[in-house]
Amino acid sequence: MTTNRTVQNAADAALWLAVHRGFHVLPLNYGTKTPLRGCVDCRAEHCDHTPQTCSCLARADGALCHGVWAATTDPGVIARWAQRWHTSVWAVHLWTSGLLAVDLDTRPGPPPRQPLNGLPWPHEEPPPADGLDTYATLAALSGGAVGTDTFTTDTPSGGLHLLYSTTGQWKGSQGKVRDGDDTVRTGLGWQIDIKCYGGYVVLPGSTSKAGLYRRSSATTTPRPLDGWLADALTRTGHDRTTTAPAATRPAAAVPTIDAQTGPARYAVGALRSACAELAAMEPDTGRNRKLFRSTTRLAGMAQAGWIDRTVVEAALTDAARHAGLPAAEIRYVLTSGFGRPLPVPDIRSAA
Ligand SMILES: [Zn+2]
Ligand SMILES: [Zn+2]
Repeated sequence: MTTNRTVQNAADAALWLAVHRGFHVLPLNYGTKTPLRGCVDCRAEHCDHTPQTCSCLARADGALCHGVWAATTDPGVIARWAQRWHTSVWAVHLWTSGLLAVDLDTRPGPPPRQPLNGLPWPHEEPPPADGLDTYATLAALSGGAVGTDTFTTDTPSGGLHLLYSTTGQWKGSQGKVRDGDDTVRTGLGWQIDIKCYGGYVVLPGSTSKAGLYRRSSATTTPRPLDGWLADALTRTGHDRTTTAPAATRPAAAVPTIDAQTGPARYAVGALRSACAELAAMEPDTGRNRKLFRSTTRLAGMAQAGWIDRTVVEAALTDAARHAGLPAAEIRYVLTSGFGRPLPVPDIRSAA
């Protein structure tokens, strides 16, 4: 319930952690637990710049653009947000705070036969009941222990967020089983989510629809990432510095058409950001769906005469190839996408 008290408690807790622990915090929508929407120009699908090159964020005056990238330690900004948004759900952006979160879930459902990514489940061990079990077994197999002497939050659903300090560039992941499979092949293991770069977790002191997030550790200081955990993350492809295709691949050719005015400029911007996002995507992250959605949106703009269809096709094909999609699949998705053009947006406010 969002009473004035729960709103105040959540904001106070976020402010304290920002000031005393250097957490970069931000308010979330109470209902969806997602970041608030930024200005029209910066909303992801429409903009052609990154959070790092955003003029709104560069002002450092509390613009809530680019989701978690708006998070701050500035007490003045936090106080203004608290007054303006009146929400009881606050989060920390992990990566800018030098943190990594291990998010252990307790969703119901039978465990897969192989709950750990890349490690056989021990014969003598009963199947895990939830992410806490999976993680404890991973720790034991790795010669470590879960340990509770780090900043830990109990979630309303019975899950756990463990925070660790790290200077590493870790990618987030979800430990899930794909349909028809009985082995976890992503993340660390079943019902273990990793959050770091671009990721956030709700802070203790917050109250969502599901209930109160409580700190369950005595300490408010995240301890340094354990060696065994860093090794397990590296083994499973979480190290952005060695595995990030976005960083190591050559940049995809993003169209460099002269920026005209009005709808044409808008369409080029939309195409550029769609290509940049798509080219940086990795397998199993929805490349096909992203390509289809971008195609339908740009197909509408091509139909309206805002941009040339051949320009759209060439740029999206190139970006999709960079993302590693097979040529036949790209052709198929483009054809079906152009067959279902979306209505063009009303851009009077954005032009
Ligand atoms: Zn903005
Ligand atoms: Zn921006």
